[in-house]
Amino acid sequence: MKNEFIRKETTIIHKGYSSEHHHDSLSVPLYQTSTYTFSSAEQGERRFAGEESGNIYSRLGNPTVRILEERIAELENGQSALAFGSGMAAVSAVLIHVTKTGDHILCSRGIYGCTFGLLEMMDEKYNISHSFSALSTEQEIEASIRPETVCVYIETPINPTMELVDLELVNKVAKKHGLKVIVDNTFSSPYLQNPLDFGADYVLHSATKYINGHGDVIAGLLIGNDVDDMMNIRMTVQKDVGGIISPFDAWLIIRGLKTLHVRMDRHSENAQQLVSFLQSASVVSEILYPFDPSHPQYEIAKKQMKAGGGLISFNIKGGKKAAQFFMNELQLIKIAVSLGDAETLIQHPATMTHSVIPEVEREKMGVSHSLLRLSVGLEHVEDIMADLKQAFAKVETHFAMTK
Ligand SMILES: *Cc1c(COP(=O)(O)O)cnc(C)c1O
Repeated sequence: MKNEFIRKETTIIHKGYSSEHHHDSLSVPLYQTSTYTFSSAEQGERRFAGEESGNIYSRLGNPTVRILEERIAELENGQSALAFGSGMAAVSAVLIHVTKTGDHILCSRGIYGCTFGLLEMMDEKYNISHSFSALSTEQEIEASIRPETVCVYIETPINPTMELVDLELVNKVAKKHGLKVIVDNTFSSPYLQNPLDFGADYVLHSATKYINGHGDVIAGLLIGNDVDDMMNIRMTVQKDVGGIISPFDAWLIIRGLKTLHVRMDRHSENAQQLVSFLQSASVVSEILYPFDPSHPQYEIAKKQMKAGGGLISFNIKGGKKAAQFFMNELQLIKIAVSLGDAETLIQHPATMTHSVIPEVEREKMGVSHSLLRLSVGLEHVEDIMADLKQAFAKVETHFAMTK
């Protein structure tokens, strides 16, 4: 690439691609191939021996996938990235890479339901244990670290409670103890938050969400700063466990990614307006959106995030019955898990994304039956608001709530 682009908005569109090497095609070509031909047997030998760079087989690398990886590495201010067939493939790859039998993983107070499931499986099958902590002060982090702890695995904002973890603090304490820090940055996207800047060792994404942004791909990404270490993951866990992305999905993500900055700005603007609206809704008992002055962690939000993004969680009065009744009354807003799409989506974590977590654990994470998670889309904000408003009114009437 001739130009050294600096700003994210430009990187998102150009990084890692020169049309002159691809028949002058403006759009990144889709290399839908499983394997690559060698010009001679000797060339094949050299490529397998690592003496000559070049393609071998698409599980080890593909030109379309590589462009996505380069772009994402740059967007996360990292040196190297790997693309996977799902967010969970990225989560499992990095956890397999950093742990061995007997190790302990220290986690943020809440994590994605399937990540929880994976940790339970690692514990049962391989004796790799885990525990949870709010990680809110230096003392609390220190007290949670065990002799066998090897890494700290965090989400911030935490899905679905929107609680933040102070990236600067956690990285500082983890460094002192030689622990790797892994951050699931799905909720913010690389446009709003860059955990590597705070000293994290790995950042991962469910690219299914904001990065692709169009609700038509399942994919994951892992970014790091240590090029040799990342190559090691590529040539061991990724190659041999095999959770790679298809070239077509990588191509779709490259296409979706082009508008990430425009989308994130609008998601954030829409969400900010909806937060104000929800603050005035009498059916809502609590609003969880850290990038708002009313939130207790607003200072941390400002320190590590560029804007709040499109996710708002809130507690509705009347518990599970009211929550489900409310969802059923929505017309424009779709009932669906996943997030970060153009369509506004709503889900009930206790019975959906976080239903695999035992009730006791779930309550400890702050996921009660009155909690709803709204993924604010790109529709006109007043249309989203009108839909919420009419459904709130029906809840009030049906449950005879007084204002
Ligand atoms: C969706 C999600 C995942 C899992 O990603 P998939 O692409 O569905 O495998 C992991 N972490 C968070 C925070 C998510 O929202």
